[in-house]
Amino acid sequence: MMKRYRFDTKRLQVIFEDSVLDKFQSSTQRYSRDHERGGLLLGRIFPDENKIVVVEATNPAILSSDPTNICVDLEDANAYMLRRWEESDKKITYIGDWHTHPEKNPSPSLMDKFTFFDTYRKSHIDQNLLLCAIIGTNPSLKNGIWLGAQSKFELHRLHRTMHNHKFYSK
Ligand SMILES: [Zn+2]
Repeated sequence: MMKRYRFDTKRLQVIFEDSVLDKFQSSTQRYSRDHERGGLLLGRIFPDENKIVVVEATNPAILSSDPTNICVDLEDANAYMLRRWEESDKKITYIGDWHTHPEKNPSPSLMDKFTFFDTYRKSHIDQNLLLCAIIGTNPSLKNGIWLGAQSKFELHRLHRTMHNHKFYSK
């Protein structure tokens, strides 16, 4: 299916609003018994500028979880996303997913990579990429958040700038 909004993943800029970083900070797996957390990323897309602004990290209902797994209630997650989309006059849209890892410098597992690709393939989205954010035990650290952009053929990592809320391709 042709995507209406096309980004150049090699020149992508992603900005997280403060409230999203606050949500990440309060969702970390600080203790070994803490369960994995996660949900959707909602944002505004600016394909002409190759820019995405993440405005919300959602907390959908969780069907089951443990320290290394999470099963999100997709019906609940999708219903909330549609509501936000309509309320925002179709400006705020689904742009990816986030989940936590119990490690300081998080990176995607093999299963994560498979899931990112599978989610991209199955999602009915108008843009040619989805963001994947993995939140470590201290997201305020430079490498405390792993961010990638999944397109049809590749998973492209984005790097954090000195401005803590900005990520760029390079
Ligand atoms: Zn993971």
